[in-house]
Amino acid sequence: MKKQIAILGSTGSIGTQALQVIEEHPDRYEAYVLTANNRVDELIAQARKFRPEAVVIANETKYAQLKEALADLPIKVYAGEEALCQIVAEKPIDIVLTAMVGYAGLRPTMNAIRAHKAIALANKETLVVAGELINELAGENGTPILPVDSEHSAVFQCLTGEIGNPIEKVILTASGGPFRTCSMEELQHVTKAQALKHPNWDMGAKITIDSASMMNKGFEVIEAKWLFGVRPEQIEVVIHPQSIIHSMVQFEDGAVKAQLGMPDMRLPIQYAFSYPDRLKASFPRLDFAQCTSLTFEQPDIRRFRNLALAYEALHQAGNMPCIVNAANEVVVAAFLRDEISFLGMSDVIEQTMQKVSYIKKPTYEDYVATDLEARAIAKQLIQTP
Ligand code: NAD
Ligand code: MG
Repeated sequence: MKKQIAILGSTGSIGTQALQVIEEHPDRYEAYVLTANNRVDELIAQARKFRPEAVVIANETKYAQLKEALADLPIKVYAGEEALCQIVAEKPIDIVLTAMVGYAGLRPTMNAIRAHKAIALANKETLVVAGELINELAGENGTPILPVDSEHSAVFQCLTGEIGNPIEKVILTASGGPFRTCSMEELQHVTKAQALKHPNWDMGAKITIDSASMMNKGFEVIEAKWLFGVRPEQIEVVIHPQSIIHSMVQFEDGAVKAQLGMPDMRLPIQYAFSYPDRLKASFPRLDFAQCTSLTFEQPDIRRFRNLALAYEALHQAGNMPCIVNAANEVVVAAFLRDEISFLGMSDVIEQTMQKVSYIKKPTYEDYVATDLEARAIAKQLIQTP
């Protein structure tokens, strides 16, 4: 039986690489649902090639175009946020790959968990916003959450065969992004174009900016807490500019296990699909003749304040990470429209953290309200600093 996969965000960086994994293993995997936000032409091309049961376009104004383009095929066509949230529960689906961006991933992920689908989780924002709620829900429904983020996949791979052995430390590696060696003065003037050029990974715009600002690593610290049940002080970040070691785990005897490989997201995507098996893959191999030096540095939270803000949110817990995520989505969108400076992003996030009402044990409704309130405040701060 082929595993049926729903890809939320199939036209993005993770989504298209997931389709390459499916293409490489046609005997094992089938795309059951493909979804996109806006890029209707790509979605049409993917649907014609992979012949899923259904496609969903979040932007309802593109429905007619999508429907018409697929009229000759027996593919169900839906549009809108609600359809996207509902489709994940369809009976034949085995795995839901959450590869959409941002807070929008939360509700479909919750629905997929309730429908007992295995979650291949790329959308880290879901765990940042509501990690506790997601873990409770996954526990109640017996739903596995398999990490796709390369660092967390690395940790997950290091933990194989270690049942019962407590983790002393999770060590997340970070490339340091394009501005790793920039001075504070230089950071004041960096541009969107420079921020969008990541040295090692080709990713969507939002996560590329998050990587440049280190918010991505901050989010990954929060993600690690919920995925691996470790305390904030057990999660360490180390800068490793070559992105060859994808992350590490230190055990109680002092042993450190690492997972290494080329910077290629197809491996963690495939591992989330095939776990606990490993499948033969054609991806490029690591060549130690080429990578002759692996180096490590300490992160600088003075220049990259977002990392400190994320740790602060993790310590405060409650709805604070949700506040940081919402403010971050607003400032990143503004930065991509040249409406805020690179360093200005951290200022707005910090001020939003101080202004939004704090809730210690939020419900789902509280997260929805927090997200709205934080977005409104962050937008206002950008307009009238
Ligand atoms: P991307 O921008 O390349 O693609 C995003 C996809 O989601 C597109 O298909 C888009 O149509 C869809 N989408 C966006 N907003 C949506 C919305 N509101 N509703 C419905 N669909 C929407 O992004 P990406 O780089 O593939 O990242 C996707 C997720 O995976 C993010 O959460 C990111 O943090 C995470 N991630 C990405 C990488 C990577 O290498 N790209 C690595 C680790 C984690
Ligand atoms: Mg990552």
